[in-house]
Amino acid sequence: MRTLVISIILSTLLLPALFAGNPGGKTKTFKSKHPKNIILLIGDGMGTAQVYAGYTAKKGIMNITGMPVSGFSITYSASDYITDSGAGGTALATGVKAKNYSIGVDTSGKPVKSILEIAEDRGLSTALVATSAITHATPASFIAHTSNRSKYADIAFDFLKTDVDVFIGGGYNHFARRADSLNLVDSLKARGYLVTRDLKNVNVTSTTRLAALLADEHMPPMSKGRGDMLPDATQMALEIISRNNKGFFIMIEGSQIDWGGHDNDVKYVVSEMVDFDNAVGKALQFAAKDGETLVLVTADHETGGFGITGGSIAKGDVQGAFLTKDHTATMVPVFAYGPGSERFTGVQDNTDIFKKCVELLGF
Ligand code: MG
Ligand code: ZN
Repeated sequence: MRTLVISIILSTLLLPALFAGNPGGKTKTFKSKHPKNIILLIGDGMGTAQVYAGYTAKKGIMNITGMPVSGFSITYSASDYITDSGAGGTALATGVKAKNYSIGVDTSGKPVKSILEIAEDRGLSTALVATSAITHATPASFIAHTSNRSKYADIAFDFLKTDVDVFIGGGYNHFARRADSLNLVDSLKARGYLVTRDLKNVNVTSTTRLAALLADEHMPPMSKGRGDMLPDATQMALEIISRNNKGFFIMIEGSQIDWGGHDNDVKYVVSEMVDFDNAVGKALQFAAKDGETLVLVTADHETGGFGITGGSIAKGDVQGAFLTKDHTATMVPVFAYGPGSERFTGVQDNTDIFKKCVELLGF
């Protein structure tokens, strides 16, 4: 009896321990079979080796690996065996295989509605969070429509065509310092957004629409002082959008796991992976308390052909090697928690993730 009481107290005090270091997890009964809210976390370039490198660096105490449901996603694009983040993000966001370098358009260049845009149409709240410019391929796939992912000024303009409630990341220059000399910061303010360059200026209770552009271009890497921006932004966005009784959709990206892969830099991959897992922890804490939230963690593709060649869980030490400076075609992992999570087991196409989400939300 005493053990039972103590373990209940402990699990209440230490919510992340519900997940951390608990591979396979425990199945939990949720309020309903259908989620009201979806939190999609994308680790750009995150294959299974990147996840296990994070697990090792965190000495086996990891949020992602404690999620009870897991599967795989096949990532090829309409044009290439190896996808880029544009086509990879578009598949997850819209359920359509696109050509590489495309954002939110089909193979003929026609715009396709993303799950974020569909959620907005249905009256849900929505948000995007990234450690890259918010106009970069992955977040852009959920809100913009262009055959050329490098048209950042056009992509920034698309943020004004969708009623997204919260977006947090870099990319200030694409809104404020543009070749066409339009000032999109003023347009955002006119539409009721609190526009800020520092999350410290945000009063969460009184804010309903937030555009936090925290860097001119991309956020710095963890090794150059980004701190807890990603987990903090995750928590702040969840607090703001969860006030909507109809529910919400949010995409949160660990953008720079990919850049560590491109650089063939093990430390870069590991530090970004650990930070991303901390953001996943914030999402899981929210979902465990809420009971009506589906949390999904996946990647758009793997980067670097990363392999772990040595290490120690006790010491939190990882050694690795890379096959390429580019992306690879390997399947990427999918982890799920919450109502509907069981639908994400096995091997699925990246476009199936969108389809399952839309079905589960009853759209
Ligand atoms: Mg990305
Ligand atoms: Zn990449």
